[in-house]
Amino acid sequence: MQKNLIENLSKIISKLPGMGPRIAKRIVLHLAGNKEKILLPLIENLRLLNEKIHNCEICGNLDEGRVCAICLNQKRDESLICVVEEVADLWAVERAENYRGKYHVLGGNLSAISGKTIEDLNLNSLYSRLRKGEVKEVIIATSATIDGQTTAHFIAENLKDFDVRVTRLAYGIPVGSELDYLDEGTIAIAFKTRSEF
Ligand SMILES: [Zn+2]
Repeated sequence: MQKNLIENLSKIISKLPGMGPRIAKRIVLHLAGNKEKILLPLIENLRLLNEKIHNCEICGNLDEGRVCAICLNQKRDESLICVVEEVADLWAVERAENYRGKYHVLGGNLSAISGKTIEDLNLNSLYSRLRKGEVKEVIIATSATIDGQTTAHFIAENLKDFDVRVTRLAYGIPVGSELDYLDEGTIAIAFKTRSEF
């Protein structure tokens, strides 16, 4: 019975991003051995996470309340929407402290592996936002992977019905990297999308 409990919890934890079965089991054993310091605060915080954190009903971001802090922030540019696959991608763009528009989180991409289809993506709410007519540009910032690009093309195709400029992020040489270490795909697309000095 006790072994099953540890096995079951390990199985759940191993489904988390970046986890494998061995590290998951180590975590479970660590939690069981550190109840006061780690397990109890973790239980309490997981409970709060479940109760308070929701998908924003406008953009799909995760935050406290029905509408997220970014959507509520009136200083941000309402005319710009950056479309990302996941909330983690939104955070990545925020870390760059460069973008001051709003977001739309798809909740994944079109992927044969995950089996996600158009209906699974948070797109209808994007179209509703565009119908209001305040948005002038949609920046599609999906991953530079085949799935990400398939998703981007699909969205771009669907946005032709709206009176908005549709752009995507530039591809190219990552800042701080040496050419010698880059793959051919990255170099080829950097050549294609080269710009004036
Ligand atoms: Zn939001």
